[in-house]
Amino acid sequence: MTHRLWTWLFIALLALAWPLLSPFSVTLLNYIGLYSLVAVGLVMLTGVGGITSFGQAAFVGLGAYATAWICTSPVAAQALAGIHGDLLPWLGLVLGLIVTGVIAWILGAVTLPLSGHFLALGTLAWGLSLYYLFGNIEGLGGFTGIAGVRPLAIAGYELTSPRLFGIIIWAVLLLSIWAMHNLLDSREGRAIRALKSGRVMAESMGVDTSRQRMKLFLLAALLAAISGWLYTHLQRFVNPTPFSLEIGIEYLFMAVVGGSGHLWGAVLGATLITLLKEQLQDWLPTLLGTSGNFEIIVFGLLMVLILQRAADGIWPLITARAQRWVKPVAPRTAHTTQAVLARRKLPPVGQVVLSATQVTKRFAGLVANDAVDLDVKAGEVHALIGPNGAGKSTFFNMISGVDDPTSGTVTLLGQAMVGKPSRAFAALGMGRTFQHVRLLGQRTVLENVALGAHLRGHRGWLSAMLQTDRREEAALLAEARKQIERCGLIDYVDTPAASLPLGQQRIVEIARALAGQPSILLLDEPAAGLRHLEKQALVRLLSQLRAEGLAVLVVEHDMEFVMNLADRVTVLEFGRVIALGSPAQVQANPRVMEAYLGVEDTEGVAA
Ligand code: ADP
Ligand code: MG
Repeated sequence: MTHRLWTWLFIALLALAWPLLSPFSVTLLNYIGLYSLVAVGLVMLTGVGGITSFGQAAFVGLGAYATAWICTSPVAAQALAGIHGDLLPWLGLVLGLIVTGVIAWILGAVTLPLSGHFLALGTLAWGLSLYYLFGNIEGLGGFTGIAGVRPLAIAGYELTSPRLFGIIIWAVLLLSIWAMHNLLDSREGRAIRALKSGRVMAESMGVDTSRQRMKLFLLAALLAAISGWLYTHLQRFVNPTPFSLEIGIEYLFMAVVGGSGHLWGAVLGATLITLLKEQLQDWLPTLLGTSGNFEIIVFGLLMVLILQRAADGIWPLITARAQRWVKPVAPRTAHTTQAVLARRKLPPVGQVVLSATQVTKRFAGLVANDAVDLDVKAGEVHALIGPNGAGKSTFFNMISGVDDPTSGTVTLLGQAMVGKPSRAFAALGMGRTFQHVRLLGQRTVLENVALGAHLRGHRGWLSAMLQTDRREEAALLAEARKQIERCGLIDYVDTPAASLPLGQQRIVEIARALAGQPSILLLDEPAAGLRHLEKQALVRLLSQLRAEGLAVLVVEHDMEFVMNLADRVTVLEFGRVIALGSPAQVQANPRVMEAYLGVEDTEGVAA
């Protein structure tokens, strides 16, 4: 059975059992459904996107209070006098989403630029503040809360029974999981996954990481708000308690314990934590002789234990065990042969694609690049060499938008680029690789390479969630497959990138850069870690790219590799250009001999 069939089986079992379950089980499952919805948002935000939030309960509260207020407040009643009562909960949903959206946007704008621990601390702060806000607003019933909220009504029928209402809860949950699954399995999903592995890589692929982070944050907040809305109409009563920081931490437990990167892990985590809390609340007070929320201590210990034993949560453990019974879904083969992807016109051979003029970079007292001039033409391989610490990597950053020069200009295809982010370089047709390979290790080679084609697609989040992007997605995957084939890695197309040897991972990075159909390719030490035959294959590949009219800049240590390949060589020492010319000219240059040969291995040059 495939994954999908198992899912349908689960849904069918749930549906069949639903009328037969005891009222207690239905209530439990309803809560599990509500918690799962929040945890699904957290899986996206924390597990996939790498943004930890302790404050999700506050967004649940916003969704819950918005609808409670609209349904009960005299002020709202006056303003909405002509409106049928059955519509109020739906207006409550809209209001909840708007309020949550606006507040999350403001909180996100303040917290998301923070990094790592500070971001998590920020979410603690607003999680706490919103809780006290709920309790202290007169119009929201203070800490006593709001009672007598009207039930949800569909076509005039009031859903007062938990059994009926549970159908809505689980339908919303399953639809959300479906939509999130689709989102992750798309162009935008690859961009979201890329966020976690460092923003430099994602930006170089053309991903606007700040924007993606904000969208992810809003998405998780809105899912939480929907959960809050459902909660209010199930419970028909709200007070601040379920939206406290403590519950916010529990939501994070659910996402992490279940499996922080897996959507179904959210459901598993919510189930485990809910059942455990149930049990613990029964016997912990008896055991300890006093009452209190002791379960949070047990959860804390449990989380530490699970994180030690299985950092990715329990879900991956189960799927690993169950592999025998789950047939992998056949990888989506791309049928589309017509190119629906935009193709860029390459500049004519000989034209300068990239030029750096008098680029200087100072780090405090140190001049890492001192008035460096360098240009790369279409149809040539230009090599930048120099001993360790000469300033090659610094220069690479200057000409790829990772960092800005202290002075000097960088021009890409006629456009002044200083001050622009890497994604602007990518948009103009710059593809690059990294000295320290930056791939999504758990994802397949195909997905990694498809990320390189990010800017050639245009479909957004909603389109991905609703699967209206399938044609474009097929074309992107077909393009990725083509580049993988061209680079000789077609046998590994469905292999997780991390399980390839380093040399091949470097080639995956080249394929990823090629998927963006670049006019210029920047390679940072592409031959490092490659075996002799692999180097020869790389030389052939780069020669072929040059023949196709690409401009290639290679930063390299391997002299033999460079001398065999390059048309022109620039030599850097102490941040200055000390020679520029053909490989033969550079090798004969006494200045280069003196500066370079003592430091680096001389084999290649001597030959
Ligand atoms: P290469 O790549 O040629 O080995 P780098 O560009 O990495 O050389 O480094 C050039 C010089 O600049 C080195 O002396 C290095 O220590 C210094 N340097 C590089 N990056 C920084 C930085 N962010 N802050 C301070 N000094 C730096
Ligand atoms: Mg370097």
